[in-house]
Amino acid sequence: MASEFSLIEQYFQRDSRRADVALGIGDDAALLRPPEGQLLAAAVDTLLIGVHFTDGTRPSDLGWKALAVNLSDLAAMGAEPAWATLSLSMPAYSERWLKEFAEGFFELADSVGIELVGGDTVKGPLTVTVQVHGFVPEGQALSRSDARPGDVIYVSGSLGDAAWGLKQALEQEIPRNVNEYFLRERLDRPSPRLALGKKLRGIASACIDISDGLAADLGHIMQRSNLGAEIETAALPLSEQLRAVCDDEEGRGLGLNGGDDYELCFTIPQPQQAVFEAIADSLGVAVTRIGEMTNEVGVLRVDGEVYEAEGYDHFRDPEYRDIGL
Ligand code: ADP
Ligand code: MG
Repeated sequence: MASEFSLIEQYFQRDSRRADVALGIGDDAALLRPPEGQLLAAAVDTLLIGVHFTDGTRPSDLGWKALAVNLSDLAAMGAEPAWATLSLSMPAYSERWLKEFAEGFFELADSVGIELVGGDTVKGPLTVTVQVHGFVPEGQALSRSDARPGDVIYVSGSLGDAAWGLKQALEQEIPRNVNEYFLRERLDRPSPRLALGKKLRGIASACIDISDGLAADLGHIMQRSNLGAEIETAALPLSEQLRAVCDDEEGRGLGLNGGDDYELCFTIPQPQQAVFEAIADSLGVAVTRIGEMTNEVGVLRVDGEVYEAEGYDHFRDPEYRDIGL
């Protein structure tokens, strides 16, 4: 009979790949060597079944995504990934599930050089919590709070894809063509923009990753920087795959409010424009100018009109609020 310990050994313990891991999985705590002169960036995110992923999500996609959403936070700080821990709650022991989960997790982990150094495994509702640690040279981390009026707002990649994929997943529909596969993949296997995040060090005045939707997440930059913003929907980067499956209006709505894309939204001061445009081509990911930061504190204008964001809030729905706590 499988025990918690053999499970960890079999699926999660591997030979160390990083010189800065003095001791990885297997003891009471990992022992790690942070580099001198760098700050440690730490982030944690939980994926809960029925809230962050649907019943039908493949275990390998879940393993990938649980790590990806955390790496996206490191990307938004301009940090280089180093170490991760994984806390897993599962209703039952399934070899197939664990094998596939670990495959997805390590596929992404190995591609970015992050090492799993510890975790916890318990029986309970399916919930995956990953914590990541990364490094960023002191003074070079990207924040949400240093945007200035007139700074140009950019986003990476395309927006709204994952939201369309989610809509389809919730309706338990199976992708029927290449466009639908692409959109579902954007939901299940987001690409954290780590290379872009690092390139933005010293250039971007503010940066955030888009997990809750552009309008909501740009709202966080506005709030932390004490500014407003104006954006044009015509400028929103919508993928050709998204355009193929919905009309302009729906596409713009998804682009503005759709969550789960894990693209970066960042601001570039005018004097840095030339430097930024020069490196933008070499990034390997499209970046699109969508608007500007303004002096109108707290006001987001979309196509000139004042706009209220509809981003996801776990505690807005009374179902979550009225639990007697
Ligand atoms: P403790 O009881 O001291 O917390 P555990 O028995 O939970 O230790 O874990 C034993 C070792 O296995 C520890 O090094 C822990 O970090 C690691 N570990 C447990 N679960 C996981 C997991 N899901 N992924 C990676 N490492 C894990
Ligand atoms: Mg434990």
